[in-house]
Amino acid sequence: MDKQEIWDKACVLMRDEMAELNFNTWIGRGLQPLGRSGDTFYVKANSLMYQQYIAPRYSALIADCLSRAAGEPLKLEILNQQQAEEFQEGESVARQTADEASLNPRYTFDSFVVGNNNSFAQAAALAVAETPGEAYNPLFIYGGVGLGKTHLMHAVGHYVLSQNKDARVRYVTTEVFTNEMITAINTRTMTEFRNRYRNIDVLLVDDIQFLAGREGTQEEFFHTFNALHTSGKQVIISSDKPPKEIPKLEERLRSRFEWGLIADIAKPDEETRYEILRRKAEASHMEVDGAILHMIAEHVSSNIRELEGCLTRVSAYASLTKRPIDMQLAEEALREVFSANEPRHVTCEDIMRMVAEYYNVDVNELKGIRRNREISVPRQIAMYLSREMVDLSLEMIGNAFGRDHSTVMHACQKVATESKTSPSLATVLDDLKKQLTER
Ligand code: ADP
Ligand code: MG
Repeated sequence: MDKQEIWDKACVLMRDEMAELNFNTWIGRGLQPLGRSGDTFYVKANSLMYQQYIAPRYSALIADCLSRAAGEPLKLEILNQQQAEEFQEGESVARQTADEASLNPRYTFDSFVVGNNNSFAQAAALAVAETPGEAYNPLFIYGGVGLGKTHLMHAVGHYVLSQNKDARVRYVTTEVFTNEMITAINTRTMTEFRNRYRNIDVLLVDDIQFLAGREGTQEEFFHTFNALHTSGKQVIISSDKPPKEIPKLEERLRSRFEWGLIADIAKPDEETRYEILRRKAEASHMEVDGAILHMIAEHVSSNIRELEGCLTRVSAYASLTKRPIDMQLAEEALREVFSANEPRHVTCEDIMRMVAEYYNVDVNELKGIRRNREISVPRQIAMYLSREMVDLSLEMIGNAFGRDHSTVMHACQKVATESKTSPSLATVLDDLKKQLTER
């Protein structure tokens, strides 16, 4: 089971144990699975507030649900942004050493569904895989998140290795390339670093947009690129945008990226989305009615990772609730996911509830008459956020709080002024806003 699967299953279990609002607020919006290492499952808290709030209250419950989902005891670690980045770096370096080429076995040409959106990129990748260093060099693939760039690059790697098992193929993310370079500089092993990269037959570099603004890495990559290119070795690069649109990229690199072939991957149409789901269901031996696949394909259009996530979720939901996969179950399992894709409509009530929870006061107190600081501060913040986020007049906001319009105006001015001089207040406001709009 991969981390997402464990997490999805654990979420279904947590939902049963918690109030819906608490689950959505703290777990659904607040945490993201990072992965596991040994018997510890790591999650990232989306802000400091989540980390501080969730850890004491829900750690035990989350760990328990994770263990049940994984079928073995797991410990839980909640990491902040920076720790999460370190964890991810460590994980990708570990993957690098574990497998020289670093290719995901699932990402092959066979499992890649060709549609109008990606047929050009797929054909170009296949041509390059058949005659590396000859057809198009470099091949530059760009497209939005979750549309199959990484999949296609790995497919080239597998193909090349299947034709020639001695071929030296290496897949790296731009992050890994950068980190390895920095390590090499610090440990004075630049010569080894250069040799490692210049003895490669097919170099796959993912997410090159992250070179933006990193001058040292650009310089080194430029030399690596030249060394490989002049000796007829294949380079494939991916990015979320075409070379021209990558900001802060040296001109000489940009022009090299344009030497070969540039191929884009667009969003898949509904038919392609359906086909991807059908193949994914087949590959995971799931029996799912076509109508359900159509329903998912219709709703999720912009990201194939999300599309696949929906199927995983349905399957997890079915196995945990021990029910067969039918339309009703699929709709239940995906209700949240689908509504999250629609723009969130925030009301004064939502704001009051969220602020009350944050400050640990009773919602009714916000509308009540008490004027001590513990209540009046959250009340003013709730009024301020209402003014910012809800399309209502001061009068109408006042009504929601049982106050008149001048009280609301006064509160808004006060919070606005204070947030300019108090970074902690500004952070609280940001946090709350984020929580109200995201889910
Ligand atoms: P990107 O690198 O563009 O962000 P990925 O290559 O990681 O996207 O793709 C995200 C997920 O979608 C992967 O699981 C991948 O296998 C799947 N996927 C993307 N495109 C296709 C496709 N055309 N056919 C089958 N699966 C696909
Ligand atoms: Mg990718």
